[in-house]
Amino acid sequence: MTEDKPEQTETPYEYSFEFIQKKLEGKKDSFGMLMKEIVRTGICTECATCAAVCPVLEWDDLTAQPKLIGKCTGCGICYNQCPRTITDPYQLMGEFKTGYVSNTNIPEVIGGQDGGTVTSLLCYLFDEHLIDAAVVTMKDPSNPWHPVAQIITSKDDAIKSSGSIYSHSQTVEALMDAVRQDFRSIAFVGTPCNIDAVSKMFDSPTGMLKYFMRCHVLKIGLFCMDSFAPEAIYPFFEKEGIDLSKVQKMDINKGKFHLYYDPQGEPVKSYTIRQLDKFKSSSCNFCTDLTAENADISVGSVGSGANKNTVFARSGIGTEIMEDAAEKGYLKIEPFNAINLNAVLFLAKLKKVSQYTVRKRKVFIVRDADEKEEPRIETKPEVDQAGVKPPLGARKFLSVSKDLKETDQILNISLTNTIGFVLEDMKIRIVSVEELFEKKPWITTITELFPFETIEIGYPIDGEPGQPIRANVLVEASTEAFGKIFSRTLKIAPEE
Ligand SMILES: Cc1cc2nc3c(=O)[nH]c(=O)nc-3n(C[C@H](O)[C@H](O)[C@H](O)COP(=O)(O)OP(=O)(O)OC[C@H]3O[C@@H](n4cnc5c(N)ncnc54)[C@H](O)[C@@H]3O)c2cc1C
Ligand code: SF4
Ligand code: SF4
Ligand code: SF4
Repeated sequence: MTEDKPEQTETPYEYSFEFIQKKLEGKKDSFGMLMKEIVRTGICTECATCAAVCPVLEWDDLTAQPKLIGKCTGCGICYNQCPRTITDPYQLMGEFKTGYVSNTNIPEVIGGQDGGTVTSLLCYLFDEHLIDAAVVTMKDPSNPWHPVAQIITSKDDAIKSSGSIYSHSQTVEALMDAVRQDFRSIAFVGTPCNIDAVSKMFDSPTGMLKYFMRCHVLKIGLFCMDSFAPEAIYPFFEKEGIDLSKVQKMDINKGKFHLYYDPQGEPVKSYTIRQLDKFKSSSCNFCTDLTAENADISVGSVGSGANKNTVFARSGIGTEIMEDAAEKGYLKIEPFNAINLNAVLFLAKLKKVSQYTVRKRKVFIVRDADEKEEPRIETKPEVDQAGVKPPLGARKFLSVSKDLKETDQILNISLTNTIGFVLEDMKIRIVSVEELFEKKPWITTITELFPFETIEIGYPIDGEPGQPIRANVLVEASTEAFGKIFSRTLKIAPEE
């Protein structure tokens, strides 16, 4: 007896839709992600491809957005057709020849940041005389947890340099010093942005290192999701009661930042990355490279489990070094399929799309200048009780510009955060100065001013309608953490 075949009612379109739905089953991409990453961030091109490919989506002309008209199965087809999403694995983590899960086989290196792969590679390279120097980043002995880029020339120093410091390190300065000192074969360890600088110095037509014929640099890149401004994050940790000189290890794992007094024990304090977001270096908001795509060898922890590293050997020489270091007993390596590639791709995607969410706010505020003045801003002394200068010294926090609309007698004052981290609870005081007397004081607090964000304030000033305006307006800004950070008198006078 033959089974009755169900009547074929599907169109080829419905058939292919279901076929791709099955292929994508279990993926995390969905309509929700399309809305979050592409539509709500404003990078949607309004091409309506998403609506064209899905039976439960239609294009809404009114909102210029895709709109659900039925039940979404979360298959992700719309996400995967959108021209703005990044879905190709190579787009997410660059080209590579071989992948490994690896960890050290050297007893002194156990207890490095993750698997100790970077340090073990440096040990191998020194022992085999494949390098005569390496550029690494160590802790500043006089300033706990501040990074200092160093040239090292021995295996012992390589072991001392293990561990991650989650802040920008000026590694290229050290590399140039090494080149000037005539080191010929240098291993360079750096974050993806450091690696990009070195790649450019070799590859671009005006690249500085292009002309150093005898200089060979092996680029060992670290995976990197973000780094933090030491001037901002360390005072925060100290305020939280953490003694930085006692901290032995910092570690970012599964969205949490941990600090350890004893690396083998429990963390003394842990924070979610979201809690520390305001201390993130602003450059990292614009960074799209998680896995050091231009390195010879890229090393990270995501995708490989505790005390191990995920490694991508990208160049021929990178692959040979990994294989030989394992063969000579410096590293234990497992093949590519031991990597949890989905974890790497997920994080890489988060990073590639993170820049879509960076938006600049422009706020226009006009307040009644007759408002009663709050108490004057308390400013912090230039030098604290211990005689120590504030960590930011003379760095400029704000840039201020003015624009006067004569018709409505409003002075527009733009304040831009010129420092790489969030300014919190910033008090702004604006006052007209007439013959040494202050009039019409106006004061407000801005809860958060993001890096390079501009806030525009409209300050009404007196003047006879139709007559040129002359005024002196004093603008002052201060924060709880840094005291007075800006004070300038803006002179308003008609153009002569
Ligand atoms: C700012 C930063 C962010 C990171 N974010 C992630 C992440 O999100 N996901 C992930 O999987 N891995 C991340 N890493 C990489 C991870 O912390 C380890 O460096 C990597 O897994 C190698 O581990 P390891 O055990 O081989 O390192 P080790 O053998 O301990 O060697 C670490 C090497 O890193 C160098 N180093 C330390 N700090 C810096 C620095 N600031 N700049 C340049 N070089 C430095 C040291 O000189 C040393 O050579 C990050 C690293 C940094 C520096
Ligand atoms: S496919 Fe992408 S870019 Fe095109 S309309 Fe849909 S969300 Fe926008
Ligand atoms: S059912 Fe439609 S809207 Fe939902 S994820 Fe699939 S393609 Fe996108
Ligand atoms: S996130 Fe990007 S810019 Fe920031 S430290 Fe890492 S590689 Fe550099």
